[in-house]
Amino acid sequence: MLAALLLAARLTVPLDSTVLLIRVLDVSDARVGGDAILITDAGAGRARHVLIDGGEHGATIVAGLTRLNVDTLAAVILSHPHADHYGGLGAVVTRFPVRAFVYGGTPRTAVTYRALLRAIDSLRIPVVTADTGVRRVTLVTGDDSVELRLLAPPPTCGALPGDAGGDAVNNCSVGVRLTRGGFVMLFPGDAEQAELGWWMLTEPSLLRADVLKGGHHGSSNATSAELLDAVQPRAVIISANGRQHPFASVLALLAARGIPTYCTADNGTVTVRVPRNGAWTITTEREGKCHARVVRN
Ligand SMILES: [Zn+2]
Repeated sequence: MLAALLLAARLTVPLDSTVLLIRVLDVSDARVGGDAILITDAGAGRARHVLIDGGEHGATIVAGLTRLNVDTLAAVILSHPHADHYGGLGAVVTRFPVRAFVYGGTPRTAVTYRALLRAIDSLRIPVVTADTGVRRVTLVTGDDSVELRLLAPPPTCGALPGDAGGDAVNNCSVGVRLTRGGFVMLFPGDAEQAELGWWMLTEPSLLRADVLKGGHHGSSNATSAELLDAVQPRAVIISANGRQHPFASVLALLAARGIPTYCTADNGTVTVRVPRNGAWTITTEREGKCHARVVRN
């Protein structure tokens, strides 16, 4: 009886209003890959959620968001139009009310991508096109302000052929820089050296971050010594499918610098907790060490 009462009491404890949670969700398996990152802030007394990318499969991401008690998404941000990032979003926008859809506006002829944009249009979800400069989105005002800065892709992305190759599309990613108090996390999408170099040139002060979401699933074309010099991360989280990602050279580079690294393929969902006061921490669903999937690159 007492146990039941204690359980009931625990269930009624209000949301921890002092903690921001950033979950790099484990949405990939040996067949499919992808990114899906859920940002949850309860600072205004009610959880507010932002989703960056939705993995490849709708059922996986919808089940994940449901399990985490997501009711509404304040924004869905699509880093770039590749299926391992937008494939699950059609199911997300159908299942959850979405207050804004943010993307880079890069042209893409893929049938499934056109269908997603049509669904967003027919659901009358407001669209923000982050195609120039740096835009600012404030999630909560006051003491618990969480600011997202959207780093636009290079201007040439607006004229990209609709059937452009994979690297060209990766290099048209919308980057996101999250700040809460003194904490900063950078999400570069799948941006490779070309776009990362352009951001280093145009927005160098916005790249430094405490935690880096490893670019392009831990590929060597997205994590270099130059980038690590610019970001100076104290931890790196890699969303990888465990098939061809992450690359051995990237893990070696991070290990040589002594940067703690977490991989969804080995650790499951990785959660960054950012309290209003005190140090941020990282916890993982499973214990494990990142394993390279591509050894020669
Ligand atoms: Zn990708």
